[in-house]
Amino acid sequence: MLKKISHIGIAVKNLEAGIAFYEKLGLKLEGIEEVPSQKVRVAFLPCGDTRIELLEPTSEDSPVARFIEKKGEGVHHIAFAVDDLPQALQNVEEGGVRLIDKEPRPGAHNADIAFLHPKSTYGVLIELCKEKH
Ligand code: ZN
Repeated sequence: MLKKISHIGIAVKNLEAGIAFYEKLGLKLEGIEEVPSQKVRVAFLPCGDTRIELLEPTSEDSPVARFIEKKGEGVHHIAFAVDDLPQALQNVEEGGVRLIDKEPRPGAHNADIAFLHPKSTYGVLIELCKEKH
């Protein structure tokens, strides 16, 4: 069901500073995009077949702002690519996993996404993601 790691989401207070750090490590910025539904600005830096996704909150009530307040900057979620997102959600829910999103919703990078609840995933916020090209 899970094809590969699509990206790793990292919460940062300052997007430009985060980009500069990963550029120093040799990654190249692919693009920056704002996702109003999540109240974040997102930067993508491809690394092989996957990406680093930097997330900067655009408002104090952004979920990412609350994450940084509670836990500090750092790894926020791991996103797995799936072929059929509604089917994948149904499968994991039938397997007893709690969902944050029962239905796919639009995410960054023109993808449909849905989050699983960290309470049933050993503390890791997992995103399932149907990438579009
Ligand atoms: Zn993501």
